[in-house]
Amino acid sequence: MEIDKTKNIFSREEMFELNKERLESRGVTIDDIAQIAYKQQSKFTKDIDYEIVLESTRKILSYADAFHIIQLGIEIDELAEKEMLSYPIQAVIKTDLGLFGLDELFGLELAGNYGIIGKTNFGDIDVNKPAKVNELNEEGKKPNKCHTFLDDIVGAIAACASTRVAQIYKEMETHHKGPKQF
Ligand code: MG
Repeated sequence: MEIDKTKNIFSREEMFELNKERLESRGVTIDDIAQIAYKQQSKFTKDIDYEIVLESTRKILSYADAFHIIQLGIEIDELAEKEMLSYPIQAVIKTDLGLFGLDELFGLELAGNYGIIGKTNFGDIDVNKPAKVNELNEEGKKPNKCHTFLDDIVGAIAACASTRVAQIYKEMETHHKGPKQF
């Protein structure tokens, strides 16, 4: 998507495209994120339609709050990979220091768009590191790689999607009808 690089506000469609491209450039697809959300929510909700999980993941990627966190978090990882930050924060971020915690703060803030359940779901993914989150975490340990913020961002988007799916199914159950969009 061609975007005018002098502007600083974007349509939801543009934010979605920019987020999708940026995540893909870091090896993360929408399907990777939706798989985590699907696996998590399947523990609580029966017979989930995977299309609703994919649609939820796409929707979250179009929100401004998510956009700024995704773009800034990935930017910091990339700068750390290129050794472009200053000491001491370069060393702290590049080594993914466990006591740093601001990467989890980005994740929690993003997940908080879906309330307490969103944050709880993020905590579960952060601790158990399913699928792509674990892959990113391991790959980030390589000398020329930094996924300090990316693993939390991916976990948080999945937590939001998982929570949105729960909301849709709850609403369906209440009204005994097809999925309602939020
Ligand atoms: Mg992290």
